[in-house]
Amino acid sequence: MFEIFGSGKPKRLFVGGLHGKEGLVTQKVFSELVKSNFTVKEGCLIIRNFSLKTRYVSTLEREFYNTETGKKLLKLIRSIKPEIYVEFHSYPSKSYPSLTSEERRKTKGVPPLIDLSKGLLFGSVSPLIRKTEFKKRDFCALLEIPKKFTGYNEVINLCKIFIKARNREEIVEEMEKIYPEQMKQVQRNYLEFYSLKI
Ligand SMILES: [Zn+2]
Repeated sequence: MFEIFGSGKPKRLFVGGLHGKEGLVTQKVFSELVKSNFTVKEGCLIIRNFSLKTRYVSTLEREFYNTETGKKLLKLIRSIKPEIYVEFHSYPSKSYPSLTSEERRKTKGVPPLIDLSKGLLFGSVSPLIRKTEFKKRDFCALLEIPKKFTGYNEVINLCKIFIKARNREEIVEEMEKIYPEQMKQVQRNYLEFYSLKI
């Protein structure tokens, strides 16, 4: 899937199907989003689902960016230079504890993902690309969607916030209205990443 809506800035890029069989779930999310008849009032949105099934290499590993999909992803990010970038992933329920555990700081060097609602997890993208490919003020997020997920409306509503907003601040402001407690942690993680790990 490769679709473009609108034109100009701000540029928004949604990607999925980065590894394993996640593309089956992310393709479904993107199809639902397209069917939901959103409008891009300002700037553009590019949606790219890379593959339905491919080898699994974690985006936290440098090796990922040498895989076929990893290379295509970097090329796309570099040609578009999005101000709003969202990676869509999918996980089996057995991975929930490790994705949301404080241990992740030690074992993976990244903060735990935050459960927005019903197992829909939110966090930042891989530190391997956050600073090299994006500016600090860009909005870069990662959504982990449970494989057996029924709350598609929630994801679509979140996508609509990303599509309507013009920048990071507007997205955070809207998300705080829906997820006040969760967003406090999101902001703490963002500040931690930029002040402590340079
Ligand atoms: Zn993934």
